Amino acid sequence: MRGPRASKHFTWAELGQPPPSLRPAGLELASALENLRSSSGGRPLHLVSGYRSPERNARVGGAVRSQHLLGRAADIPEGYATVEQAVMAGFTGIGSRGPWAVHVDVRVGPAARWTY
Ligand SMILES: [Zn+2]
Repeated sequence: MRGPRASKHFTWAELGQPPPSLRPAGLELASALENLRSSSGGRPLHLVSGYRSPERNARVGGAVRSQHLLGRAADIPEGYATVEQAVMAGFTGIGSRGPWAVHVDVRVGPAARWTY
């Protein structure tokens, strides 16, 4: 454990309390989120969703292979960052609504982009 913070501006609670085994992935996610926050001039970034347990993921109707289950994904408020900014921040999976990134993840393997 590294204490309550995953990075300078994000706590493990904000990241959805991933279990210890998923904390390395969580650190990667937090690092990219810090990049995104910086690119927005340090504007506070309030995550809509982070890690989800299998039970919680099923409850919210999440994808079976959701990166949220791996502690590698976060949903962010529409209007916070563009898809371009998310790419620059290092995210490899990006779901968007219009020009805005609303789901960002640091998936391993091929990059993925989709719209909602
Ligand atoms: Zn998501």
